[in-house]
Amino acid sequence: MPALPRNGTALGHPLGPMNIYLDIDGVLLDRKSERAAHAPEFVRRVLATCPDSTYWLTTHCKGDAAVPLRRIGPLFDAETRALMARIRPTDWDLAKTEAIDFRSPFLWFDDDCFDVERRALEQHGVLDNWIKVDLRRTPHQLGLFLQSFPIPINAFDEDWACADSSAPRPSAAGRSPGRPDRKPRSP
Ligand SMILES: [Mg+2]
Repeated sequence: MPALPRNGTALGHPLGPMNIYLDIDGVLLDRKSERAAHAPEFVRRVLATCPDSTYWLTTHCKGDAAVPLRRIGPLFDAETRALMARIRPTDWDLAKTEAIDFRSPFLWFDDDCFDVERRALEQHGVLDNWIKVDLRRTPHQLGLFLQSFPIPINAFDEDWACADSSAPRPSAAGRSPGRPDRKPRSP
């Protein structure tokens, strides 16, 4: 069986449009609320991939993209901060999955996934689009994404302009093995 492609360009064509959802605590910031290793390069890569369809998906946003920028912007250089200003807000009540557009391929970078969120992902058949970030286990994990950026489930569906039905379906590229137990989400 051939190795799964690690990104769209490996298949000879770019990924189609998608959305990227970004958590902050445990993703861009570590447990000490310090900037995670490779976070600036990761943000630049994300914004290069989805300049107009990257969203904050964090308790710090709740409809106002200025709030996360105020909180973590000072930890980043001016160039990265300017890119961060392009990240769009989301609003949700009980579950982050309320803010996810399941009609489009997406990647959701988060260190946690509640049971209700997991069920929503499973119902849509896209659990693997949750990219679990575990900086405690892998402090340089954001750097690994730079080497092998994940690709979403359904990124190569037939109705996509870049679709290639002969291409193997990626299912777990760039993901850490195993799923976490539920635990309280840090603020
Ligand atoms: Mg978090």
